[in-house]
Amino acid sequence: MAHLSTGEILRSEVAHGSAVGKEAARVMAAGDLVPDDLIDRIVESRLSRIDPTSNVLLDGFPRTTEQAKALDRMLAPRRVAFVVSLDVPEASLIDRLLHRAAVEGRADDTRDAILERMREYHHRTAAVLDHYRELGAPVLEVDGVGEVEVVFDQVRLAIKKLAAAKPRARGI
Ligand code: AMP
Repeated sequence: MAHLSTGEILRSEVAHGSAVGKEAARVMAAGDLVPDDLIDRIVESRLSRIDPTSNVLLDGFPRTTEQAKALDRMLAPRRVAFVVSLDVPEASLIDRLLHRAAVEGRADDTRDAILERMREYHHRTAAVLDHYRELGAPVLEVDGVGEVEVVFDQVRLAIKKLAAAKPRARGI
């Protein structure tokens, strides 16, 4: 699958000091979401460069119902095949991200920015799961507690089960 992470794309724009990077840097450092139209334009342009018959893993997008609707329009007549939601208690997330701050030095892994990102998740992102449930796209809720390899196996198992139930389920 092609892997498209909006956070990674934005961090690279910030590192290159591009116009998009300058617009996004402060918002990201505070843990807020960058504006929908900016993200939608980035995703649309990246998707247009990917072979339309290949499967794509969208990572960290869509994060608002508006983005999800924009994605649905971009993909039509194709559809999102399934959604993976990793479930982790907030206390563990805070520990993990503070650990990542020490290892990777990401600007948004401060305690304040982490708490703001969680607020944004509840306020704007959680509703994206309902959007896809209403559209009938399978939402695979996977326990995200444990080592990377364990969680990876859980994700793979959930997708395998889905593929067994719906052999023609494909990515976009
Ligand atoms: P991530 O690498 O997915 O944790 O994203 C890091 C930061 O980039 C987020 O906290 C937001 O500030 C921004 N960002 C990434 N993806 C999106 C998105 N789909 N919508 C809005 N902001 C985003």
